[in-house]
Amino acid sequence: MTTYPINLLGMPRADLEHLFTDMGQRSFRARQMMQWVYGRSVLRLEDMTDLSKSLRDSLGDRIEFALPVVQDRQDAADGVTKWRLAAGGGQAIETVFIPEEGRGTLCVSSQVGCAMDCPFCATGRQGFNRNLSAAEIIGQVMLARRELGGIDGPRITNVVFMGMGEPLANLRAVVKAVDVLLDDFGFGLSRRRVTVSTSGLVPQLRKLGEESNVALAVSLHAPNDALRDVLVPINRRHPIAELLAACWDYARAANLQDVTFEYVMLAGVNDSEEQARELARLLANRPAKVNLIPFNDFPGSAYRRSSPPVVDRFRQILLDAGIITVTRKTRGDDIAAACGQLAGQVSNRVLSPLGDKTAQGPLQ
Ligand code: SAH
Ligand code: SF4
Repeated sequence: MTTYPINLLGMPRADLEHLFTDMGQRSFRARQMMQWVYGRSVLRLEDMTDLSKSLRDSLGDRIEFALPVVQDRQDAADGVTKWRLAAGGGQAIETVFIPEEGRGTLCVSSQVGCAMDCPFCATGRQGFNRNLSAAEIIGQVMLARRELGGIDGPRITNVVFMGMGEPLANLRAVVKAVDVLLDDFGFGLSRRRVTVSTSGLVPQLRKLGEESNVALAVSLHAPNDALRDVLVPINRRHPIAELLAACWDYARAANLQDVTFEYVMLAGVNDSEEQARELARLLANRPAKVNLIPFNDFPGSAYRRSSPPVVDRFRQILLDAGIITVTRKTRGDDIAAACGQLAGQVSNRVLSPLGDKTAQGPLQ
Protein backbone atom coordinates (compact mmCIF):
# COMPACT_ATOMS: atom_id res chain seq x y z
CA MET A 1 0.00 0.00 0.00
CA THR A 2 1.35 3.40 -0.94
CA THR A 3 1.13 6.03 1.72
CA TYR A 4 0.69 9.61 0.56
CA PRO A 5 2.20 12.04 0.17
CA ILE A 6 5.24 10.46 -1.50
CA ASN A 7 8.47 12.36 -0.92
CA LEU A 8 9.88 12.96 -4.40
CA LEU A 9 13.27 14.26 -3.25
CA GLY A 10 15.96 12.00 -4.61
CA MET A 11 13.82 10.54 -7.38
CA PRO A 12 15.93 10.12 -10.53
CA ARG A 13 14.81 12.04 -13.59
CA ALA A 14 13.79 8.88 -15.51
CA ASP A 15 11.44 7.84 -12.66
CA LEU A 16 9.98 11.31 -12.40
CA GLU A 17 9.36 11.35 -16.13
CA HIS A 18 7.48 8.06 -15.80
CA LEU A 19 5.39 9.52 -13.04
CA PHE A 20 4.34 12.37 -15.29
CA THR A 21 3.70 10.28 -18.38
CA ASP A 22 1.63 7.84 -16.29
CA MET A 23 -0.51 10.85 -15.39
CA GLY A 24 -0.96 11.70 -19.05
CA GLN A 25 1.49 14.60 -18.81
CA ARG A 26 4.47 15.40 -21.03
CA SER A 27 7.80 14.13 -19.71
CA PHE A 28 9.50 17.55 -19.78
CA ARG A 29 7.43 18.43 -16.70
CA ALA A 30 9.95 16.35 -14.77
CA ARG A 31 12.79 18.61 -15.85
CA GLN A 32 10.79 21.70 -15.01
CA MET A 33 10.08 20.36 -11.56
CA MET A 34 13.69 19.37 -10.94
CA GLN A 35 14.84 22.85 -11.91
CA TRP A 36 12.60 24.29 -9.23
CA VAL A 37 13.70 21.81 -6.60
CA TYR A 38 17.43 21.42 -7.20
CA GLY A 39 18.15 24.56 -9.22
CA ARG A 40 16.22 27.02 -7.10
CA SER A 41 15.57 25.14 -3.84
CA VAL A 42 11.82 25.74 -4.27
CA LEU A 43 10.04 22.90 -2.52
CA ARG A 44 6.38 24.01 -2.50
CA LEU A 45 4.23 22.94 -5.43
CA GLU A 46 2.25 26.17 -5.32
CA ASP A 47 5.46 28.12 -5.99
CA MET A 48 6.30 26.14 -9.16
CA THR A 49 4.55 28.63 -11.35
CA ASP A 50 5.30 27.17 -14.76
CA LEU A 51 3.41 23.99 -13.87
CA SER A 52 -0.27 24.42 -14.64
CA LYS A 53 -2.67 25.01 -11.78
CA SER A 54 -4.60 21.85 -12.64
CA LEU A 55 -1.40 19.77 -12.58
CA ARG A 56 -0.39 21.25 -9.24
CA ASP A 57 -3.86 20.53 -7.89
CA SER A 58 -3.81 16.94 -9.06
CA LEU A 59 -0.37 16.40 -7.51
CA GLY A 60 -1.45 18.36 -4.43
CA ASP A 61 -1.78 15.85 -1.65
CA ARG A 62 -0.04 12.96 -3.40
CA ILE A 63 3.51 14.28 -3.44
CA GLU A 64 5.82 16.43 -1.37
CA PHE A 65 9.46 17.49 -1.15
CA ALA A 66 10.19 17.02 2.54
CA LEU A 67 13.52 17.91 4.15
CA PRO A 68 14.89 16.10 7.18
CA VAL A 69 14.29 17.79 10.54
CA VAL A 70 17.35 19.26 12.26
CA GLN A 71 17.73 18.21 15.88
CA ASP A 72 21.02 19.93 16.43
CA ARG A 73 23.70 21.89 14.61
CA GLN A 74 27.27 22.29 15.74
CA ASP A 75 29.93 24.52 14.22
CA ALA A 76 33.54 23.54 14.88
CA ALA A 77 36.39 25.98 15.37
CA ASP A 78 37.88 24.96 11.98
CA GLY A 79 34.73 25.75 9.98
CA VAL A 80 33.31 22.22 9.93
CA THR A 81 29.55 22.01 10.53
CA LYS A 82 27.72 18.92 11.75
CA TRP A 83 23.97 18.41 11.69
CA ARG A 84 22.11 15.81 13.64
CA LEU A 85 18.93 14.93 11.75
CA ALA A 86 15.87 13.09 13.00
CA ALA A 87 15.38 9.74 11.27
CA GLY A 88 12.07 8.77 12.91
CA GLY A 89 11.38 6.56 15.92
CA GLY A 90 13.86 8.43 18.12
CA GLN A 91 16.73 7.71 15.72
CA ALA A 92 19.13 10.25 14.32
CA ILE A 93 21.77 10.42 11.61
CA GLU A 94 24.59 12.89 11.06
CA THR A 95 25.79 14.96 8.11
CA VAL A 96 29.03 16.96 8.01
CA PHE A 97 30.18 19.89 5.86
CA ILE A 98 33.93 20.36 5.47
CA PRO A 99 35.02 23.64 3.83
CA GLU A 100 38.45 23.73 2.22
CA GLU A 101 40.32 26.12 -0.02
CA GLY A 102 38.40 26.09 -3.30
CA ARG A 103 35.94 23.38 -2.39
CA GLY A 104 33.24 22.31 0.05
CA THR A 105 32.69 18.65 0.82
CA LEU A 106 29.48 17.26 2.24
CA CYS A 107 29.78 13.91 4.01
CA VAL A 108 26.41 12.15 3.94
CA SER A 109 25.03 9.14 5.81
CA SER A 110 23.46 6.21 3.97
CA GLN A 111 22.10 4.16 6.89
CA VAL A 112 20.95 4.57 10.46
CA GLY A 113 23.97 2.91 12.08
CA CYS A 114 25.98 0.22 10.33
CA ALA A 115 26.02 -3.58 10.47
CA MET A 116 29.62 -4.06 9.37
CA ASP A 117 30.92 -3.99 12.92
CA CYS A 118 34.41 -2.55 12.38
CA PRO A 119 35.77 -2.32 15.94
CA PHE A 120 37.54 1.05 15.50
CA CYS A 121 34.42 2.90 14.27
CA ALA A 122 31.87 4.70 16.43
CA THR A 123 29.09 4.08 13.90
CA GLY A 124 29.94 0.37 13.82
CA ARG A 125 29.78 0.21 17.62
CA GLN A 126 26.22 1.55 17.45
CA GLY A 127 24.89 -1.34 15.36
CA PHE A 128 22.42 -1.15 12.51
CA ASN A 129 18.83 -0.04 12.41
CA ARG A 130 17.76 0.64 8.83
CA ASN A 131 18.63 1.90 5.37
CA LEU A 132 17.95 5.51 4.45
CA SER A 133 15.80 6.23 1.40
CA ALA A 134 17.09 8.23 -1.58
CA ALA A 135 14.85 11.06 -0.29
CA GLU A 136 16.64 10.98 3.06
CA ILE A 137 20.07 10.96 1.41
CA ILE A 138 19.33 13.80 -1.03
CA GLY A 139 17.45 15.53 1.81
CA GLN A 140 20.80 15.86 3.62
CA VAL A 141 22.30 17.71 0.63
CA MET A 142 19.29 20.01 0.20
CA LEU A 143 19.16 20.71 3.90
CA ALA A 144 22.88 21.46 4.16
CA ARG A 145 22.71 23.78 1.16
CA ARG A 146 19.85 25.68 2.73
CA GLU A 147 21.51 25.82 6.16
CA LEU A 148 24.77 27.05 4.63
CA GLY A 149 22.97 30.09 3.30
CA GLY A 150 21.74 29.01 -0.14
CA ILE A 151 23.38 30.65 -3.15
CA ASP A 152 25.14 33.20 -0.94
CA GLY A 153 26.73 30.57 1.29
CA PRO A 154 29.70 28.27 0.70
CA ARG A 155 29.08 25.88 -2.17
CA ILE A 156 28.84 22.12 -1.89
CA THR A 157 31.24 21.04 -4.63
CA ASN A 158 31.83 17.45 -3.51
CA VAL A 159 29.68 14.79 -1.89
CA VAL A 160 31.21 11.78 -0.16
CA PHE A 161 29.29 8.77 1.17
CA MET A 162 31.49 8.60 4.25
CA GLY A 163 29.01 9.38 7.00
CA MET A 164 27.11 6.76 8.96
CA GLY A 165 26.51 3.45 7.24
CA GLU A 166 27.85 1.19 4.52
CA PRO A 167 26.56 2.72 1.27
CA LEU A 168 26.85 -0.47 -0.76
CA ALA A 169 24.59 -2.28 1.73
CA ASN A 170 21.96 0.24 0.62
CA LEU A 171 22.82 0.13 -3.05
CA ARG A 172 19.43 0.87 -4.55
CA ALA A 173 18.89 4.14 -2.68
CA VAL A 174 22.53 5.16 -3.09
CA VAL A 175 22.43 4.65 -6.87
CA LYS A 176 19.30 6.81 -7.08
CA ALA A 177 20.85 9.52 -4.95
CA VAL A 178 24.03 9.45 -7.07
CA ASP A 179 21.88 9.82 -10.18
CA VAL A 180 20.34 13.02 -8.81
CA LEU A 181 23.73 14.34 -7.68
CA LEU A 182 25.17 13.92 -11.19
CA ASP A 183 22.13 14.93 -13.25
CA ASP A 184 22.37 18.37 -14.89
CA PHE A 185 18.79 18.94 -13.74
CA GLY A 186 19.78 17.72 -10.27
CA PHE A 187 22.95 18.95 -8.56
CA GLY A 188 25.04 18.69 -11.73
CA LEU A 189 28.18 17.46 -9.94
CA SER A 190 30.89 15.79 -11.98
CA ARG A 191 31.34 12.08 -11.28
CA ARG A 192 34.80 12.76 -9.92
CA ARG A 193 33.28 14.89 -7.20
CA VAL A 194 31.00 12.19 -5.84
CA THR A 195 32.71 9.42 -3.89
CA VAL A 196 31.23 6.19 -2.59
CA SER A 197 33.27 4.68 0.24
CA THR A 198 32.90 0.99 1.02
CA SER A 199 34.25 -1.52 3.50
CA GLY A 200 34.30 -4.08 0.69
CA LEU A 201 30.95 -5.61 -0.26
CA VAL A 202 32.28 -7.15 -3.46
CA PRO A 203 29.06 -8.25 -5.24
CA GLN A 204 27.50 -4.85 -4.62
CA LEU A 205 30.69 -3.13 -5.77
CA ARG A 206 30.47 -5.01 -9.04
CA LYS A 207 26.83 -4.01 -9.33
CA LEU A 208 27.72 -0.37 -8.67
CA GLY A 209 30.16 -0.63 -11.58
CA GLU A 210 27.32 -1.70 -13.86
CA GLU A 211 25.14 1.23 -12.84
CA SER A 212 27.49 4.09 -12.13
CA ASN A 213 31.01 5.37 -12.59
CA VAL A 214 31.54 7.62 -9.58
CA ALA A 215 34.78 7.88 -7.65
CA LEU A 216 35.48 4.95 -5.34
CA ALA A 217 37.12 4.80 -1.92
CA VAL A 218 37.76 1.48 -0.21
CA SER A 219 38.37 1.03 3.51
CA LEU A 220 41.33 -1.32 3.44
CA HIS A 221 42.93 -0.68 6.84
CA ALA A 222 45.09 -3.81 6.83
CA PRO A 223 47.63 -5.32 4.41
CA ASN A 224 46.72 -8.98 5.00
CA ASP A 225 43.63 -11.09 5.57
CA ALA A 226 44.52 -12.16 9.12
CA LEU A 227 44.45 -8.56 10.36
CA ARG A 228 41.69 -7.34 8.04
CA ASP A 229 39.43 -10.15 9.26
CA VAL A 230 39.57 -8.43 12.66
CA LEU A 231 39.51 -4.75 11.65
CA VAL A 232 36.97 -5.02 8.81
CA PRO A 233 34.99 -8.20 9.53
CA ILE A 234 33.31 -8.29 6.09
CA ASN A 235 36.77 -9.42 4.93
CA ARG A 236 35.96 -12.91 6.22
CA ARG A 237 33.39 -13.13 3.45
CA HIS A 238 35.24 -11.15 0.78
CA PRO A 239 39.00 -11.35 1.36
CA ILE A 240 41.55 -8.87 0.08
CA ALA A 241 42.41 -10.59 -3.22
CA GLU A 242 38.73 -10.75 -4.22
CA LEU A 243 38.18 -7.14 -3.15
CA LEU A 244 41.18 -5.79 -5.02
CA ALA A 245 40.24 -7.68 -8.20
CA ALA A 246 36.83 -5.99 -8.06
CA CYS A 247 38.50 -2.59 -7.50
CA TRP A 248 40.74 -2.91 -10.55
CA ASP A 249 37.74 -4.00 -12.64
CA TYR A 250 35.73 -1.04 -11.35
CA ALA A 251 38.55 1.41 -12.13
CA ARG A 252 38.84 0.04 -15.67
CA ALA A 253 35.09 0.03 -16.37
CA ALA A 254 34.54 3.47 -14.86
CA ASN A 255 37.67 4.83 -16.47
CA LEU A 256 38.98 6.08 -13.13
CA GLN A 257 42.53 7.19 -12.75
CA ASP A 258 42.65 5.52 -9.37
CA VAL A 259 40.77 4.03 -6.46
CA THR A 260 41.42 5.62 -3.08
CA PHE A 261 42.34 3.19 -0.31
CA GLU A 262 41.58 4.43 3.16
CA TYR A 263 43.88 3.23 5.90
CA VAL A 264 43.18 4.25 9.49
CA MET A 265 46.43 4.46 11.46
CA LEU A 266 46.07 2.46 14.69
CA ALA A 267 49.07 2.52 17.02
CA GLY A 268 50.78 -0.87 17.29
CA VAL A 269 48.05 -2.58 15.25
CA ASN A 270 48.53 -1.82 11.54
CA ASP A 271 51.22 0.88 11.44
CA SER A 272 54.58 -0.96 11.32
CA GLU A 273 57.16 -0.56 8.57
CA GLU A 274 56.73 -4.20 7.59
CA GLN A 275 52.98 -3.63 7.22
CA ALA A 276 53.67 -0.58 5.05
CA ARG A 277 55.85 -2.74 2.77
CA GLU A 278 53.17 -5.42 2.66
CA LEU A 279 50.61 -2.78 1.68
CA ALA A 280 52.95 -1.39 -0.98
CA ARG A 281 53.25 -4.87 -2.51
CA LEU A 282 49.46 -5.06 -2.81
CA LEU A 283 49.05 -1.68 -4.47
CA ALA A 284 52.24 -0.87 -6.40
CA ASN A 285 51.76 -0.45 -10.15
CA ARG A 286 48.01 -0.42 -9.74
CA PRO A 287 45.51 2.43 -10.19
CA ALA A 288 45.64 3.10 -6.46
CA LYS A 289 46.28 5.96 -4.10
CA VAL A 290 46.30 5.79 -0.33
CA ASN A 291 44.65 8.02 2.21
CA LEU A 292 46.13 7.57 5.68
CA ILE A 293 43.58 8.56 8.30
CA PRO A 294 44.77 9.38 11.81
CA PHE A 295 42.51 7.39 14.14
CA ASN A 296 39.82 9.52 15.75
CA ASP A 297 38.98 8.58 19.28
CA PHE A 298 35.45 8.12 20.60
CA PRO A 299 34.06 7.13 23.99
CA GLY A 300 34.77 3.47 24.75
CA SER A 301 37.20 2.86 21.89
CA ALA A 302 40.04 0.42 22.48
CA TYR A 303 42.47 1.94 19.96
CA ARG A 304 45.00 4.75 19.92
CA ARG A 305 46.20 7.04 17.15
CA SER A 306 49.64 6.33 15.63
CA SER A 307 52.16 9.06 16.37
CA PRO A 308 52.94 11.56 13.57
CA PRO A 309 56.51 10.23 12.95
CA VAL A 310 55.13 6.69 12.58
CA VAL A 311 52.52 7.94 10.10
CA ASP A 312 55.22 9.86 8.18
CA ARG A 313 57.47 6.79 7.98
CA PHE A 314 54.56 4.62 6.80
CA ARG A 315 53.72 7.21 4.17
CA GLN A 316 57.31 7.45 2.99
CA ILE A 317 57.50 3.68 2.39
CA LEU A 318 54.41 3.87 0.20
CA LEU A 319 55.74 6.92 -1.64
CA ASP A 320 59.04 5.12 -2.26
CA ALA A 321 57.03 2.33 -3.89
CA GLY A 322 55.55 4.93 -6.24
CA ILE A 323 52.13 5.07 -4.57
CA ILE A 324 50.51 8.49 -4.16
CA THR A 325 49.83 8.74 -0.44
CA VAL A 326 48.33 11.56 1.57
CA THR A 327 47.63 11.87 5.26
CA ARG A 328 44.11 13.07 5.79
CA LYS A 329 43.83 16.21 7.90
CA THR A 330 41.64 15.67 10.94
CA ARG A 331 38.76 18.12 10.79
CA GLY A 332 35.90 18.85 13.14
CA ASP A 333 37.12 16.57 15.92
CA ASP A 334 36.17 19.10 18.62
CA ILE A 335 32.52 18.41 17.77
CA ALA A 336 32.99 14.66 17.09
CA ALA A 337 32.50 15.23 13.36
CA ALA A 338 35.72 13.58 12.17
CA CYS A 339 35.92 10.25 10.30
CA GLY A 340 34.50 7.43 12.35
CA GLN A 341 33.12 9.63 15.13
CA LEU A 342 29.56 9.90 13.80
CA ALA A 343 27.22 8.10 16.12
CA GLY A 344 23.83 9.78 15.73
CA GLN A 345 21.24 7.88 17.72
CA VAL A 346 20.62 4.26 16.83
CA SER A 347 18.03 2.32 18.79
CA ASN A 348 16.11 -0.92 18.23
CA ARG A 349 19.14 -2.33 16.58
CA VAL A 350 18.74 -5.21 14.22
CA LEU A 351 21.18 -7.87 15.30
CA SER A 352 23.04 -8.87 12.19
CA PRO A 353 26.08 -11.02 12.71
CA LEU A 354 27.98 -11.69 9.51
CA GLY A 355 26.30 -14.49 7.67
CA ASP A 356 22.89 -13.06 8.41
CA LYS A 357 21.45 -11.48 5.28
CA THR A 358 20.51 -8.29 7.08
CA ALA A 359 24.21 -7.54 7.38
CA GLN A 360 24.21 -6.72 3.70
CA GLY A 361 20.83 -5.11 3.48
CA PRO A 362 18.62 -5.43 0.44
CA LEU A 363 20.53 -5.60 -2.80
CA GLN A 364 17.68 -4.70 -5.08
N1 SAH B 1 31.15 2.56 5.74
C1 SAH B 1 31.96 3.13 4.76
C2 SAH B 1 31.91 4.64 4.74
C3 SAH B 1 31.89 5.38 6.06
S1 SAH B 1 33.29 5.45 7.07
C4 SAH B 1 33.37 2.67 4.88
O1 SAH B 1 33.71 2.08 5.89
O2 SAH B 1 34.13 2.86 3.94
C5 SAH B 1 34.44 6.64 6.34
C6 SAH B 1 35.90 6.28 6.66
O3 SAH B 1 36.23 6.55 8.02
C7 SAH B 1 36.18 4.79 6.45
O4 SAH B 1 37.39 4.59 5.78
C8 SAH B 1 36.26 4.30 7.86
O5 SAH B 1 36.93 3.09 7.95
C9 SAH B 1 36.94 5.44 8.55
N2 SAH B 1 36.83 5.39 10.01
C10 SAH B 1 35.92 4.72 10.76
N3 SAH B 1 36.17 4.89 12.07
C11 SAH B 1 37.25 5.70 12.16
C12 SAH B 1 37.94 6.28 13.26
N4 SAH B 1 37.56 6.07 14.52
N5 SAH B 1 38.99 7.09 12.99
C13 SAH B 1 39.35 7.35 11.70
N6 SAH B 1 38.71 6.85 10.63
C14 SAH B 1 37.68 6.03 10.85
FE1 SF4 C 1 30.39 0.66 8.95
FE2 SF4 C 1 32.31 1.97 7.63
FE3 SF4 C 1 32.13 2.13 10.30
FE4 SF4 C 1 32.92 -0.17 9.17
S1 SF4 C 1 34.00 1.81 9.09
S2 SF4 C 1 31.42 0.03 10.84
S3 SF4 C 1 31.68 -0.17 7.33
S4 SF4 C 1 30.63 2.88 8.86
